[in-house]
Amino acid sequence: MEKLKLPRAIYDRLLEAAEQEAPREACGLLAGSGAAVREFYPLTNVEASAARFSMDPQEQFAALKCMRGRSWEIVGIWHSHPATPARMSAEDRKLAFMPGVSYVILSLAPACRGEIRAFRRERGGSFREQEIEFC
Ligand SMILES: [Zn+2]
Repeated sequence: MEKLKLPRAIYDRLLEAAEQEAPREACGLLAGSGAAVREFYPLTNVEASAARFSMDPQEQFAALKCMRGRSWEIVGIWHSHPATPARMSAEDRKLAFMPGVSYVILSLAPACRGEIRAFRRERGGSFREQEIEFC
């Protein structure tokens, strides 16, 4: 599996978005091409929950339109875990149904604050961790 290429500047924005939204989960889309992230679109978590997220549909639509204009695609779906490690929760696994998209989680839990991990859905429905390369 190709490594997810994540610019440091975007990582910093993810961390900032996670901190701003805590104790609720923050979420958004990572856009670019292939496995290279070029832009982050922060989206409202309409669940306003500390344990789950659901991206605002209208904001999502606007982000997709913007991506199309730049010939980008969705590289990743990102959310934060304000109090738990960067692992796919049971709920995350249930909702992560898009193949070829990286599910990226950033943790703010005290023991692993700033930890970021990416996962991809495989054929058969299991998940595999994807290495992240900062660039
Ligand atoms: Zn989660």
